[in-house]
Amino acid sequence: MFGAVVVGIGTAGWVRIRDMLNPHPGSLAEKLCVRGLVSRRNLKTEQGVNQISLEEALSREDIHAAFICTENISHDNNVRVFLEAGKHVCVEYPMTMSYKSALELWDLAERKGVILHEEHIELLTEDYKLLKKEVEGKTLQEGSLHFTGGALKPGFGFPAFSGIARLTWLVDLFGELSVTAATLEEDSANGYTKMTAKLMTADNRPLTWVEERQSGLPRAKKVSFIFDTCTLTQIPPAPTGTVGLFMQDMIRFSAKLSGQVSPEELEREKSRILHCLEVADRIQQLSQS
Ligand code: NAD
Repeated sequence: MFGAVVVGIGTAGWVRIRDMLNPHPGSLAEKLCVRGLVSRRNLKTEQGVNQISLEEALSREDIHAAFICTENISHDNNVRVFLEAGKHVCVEYPMTMSYKSALELWDLAERKGVILHEEHIELLTEDYKLLKKEVEGKTLQEGSLHFTGGALKPGFGFPAFSGIARLTWLVDLFGELSVTAATLEEDSANGYTKMTAKLMTADNRPLTWVEERQSGLPRAKKVSFIFDTCTLTQIPPAPTGTVGLFMQDMIRFSAKLSGQVSPEELEREKSRILHCLEVADRIQQLSQS
């Protein structure tokens, strides 16, 4: 069994506790056992799980892993202290707010011999799995992905990082990307932001990624992918899967802890994650220059 602690009890942290208390039967999630929660608030208990101090979480020998579910800007520090203490870490995306610190954290995890896992539930949805199948074997000419959603709470950072799930889709579908231009429109009086990033695939096909947020904007993704043979303008709808997204992610984390994910697969995942964070970093630099 792997004892675990959940750090940050917002939406994601609450789901992590729920899923460890009710693991998918017969799955590797059954190997994870929640032993406490860490919060800046005085919660005492949540779903029957006791609040413990950060110091206790870091020092207890029966705690082997931490789920970092705080707002994005504090991921870096939280991940770092648990890795330093020799604990495995599952961090909700994005791992950090800079490529440089992501490299440092990965290096630290490797030196400590522990697993560093970044959650990517957007790759686990049935819609995405179907989209990926539709795209496979086609040659992209050009494309765009336009995300809209409500305003984010403070602490979620620059849109290229808070929206890393969309970038991860593009990289997973079309391979490594370079950034040719990026802008950020902001109207702080109305809580409006719009980031536009111009990207290029390895074979010089242009992709545009837009993240637009304002209170009241419906959460939606519009795609337009023009291929040599057809154009795709809708994410194919698929029935919701039977295993929850965070549960699927937890099973994957547990598989890594149990040594059931091959080194080649771990390496592929690491390079995709680091590539996305590097692209996000570049988009931020270009938008702010
Ligand atoms: P959240 O705003 O619900 O919680 C984030 C943090 O805010 C937590 O540490 C929580 O303790 C703190 N918090 C929330 N309410 C608070 C309050 N009233 N007083 C003091 N602290 C409070 O955000 P979230 O949706 O759980 O996101 C957490 C992380 O998970 C983020 O990195 C996000 O990118 C990632 N994530 C979330 C989802 C999702 O569906 N919610 C999906 C994928 C990734």
